[in-house]
Amino acid sequence: MFIALVNWEKCTGCGDCVDACPVNCFEMSDGKSLAHRASYCIDCGNCPEVCPDDAIVISIGWGGLPRA
Ligand code: SF4
Ligand code: SF4
Repeated sequence: MFIALVNWEKCTGCGDCVDACPVNCFEMSDGKSLAHRASYCIDCGNCPEVCPDDAIVISIGWGGLPRA
């Protein structure tokens, strides 16, 4: 099971991850990306690729180690 984690200290709110996710994990909230359906992640690789601020990490399960 993959989990998308957003670091709000790094996120500048561009919204690119919202558009890039094929399973709709993200929504914007107060100018930041909220991975409110983080557990839907299928590890497609899009969001870490498009994020200009290196704010997203895909983890294996809650509390797991970063995938890469
Ligand atoms: S890796 Fe893909 S499926 Fe997972 S949160 Fe990012 S864009 Fe969505
Ligand atoms: S792509 Fe990165 S900087 Fe842009 S909203 Fe998503 S997490 Fe924030």
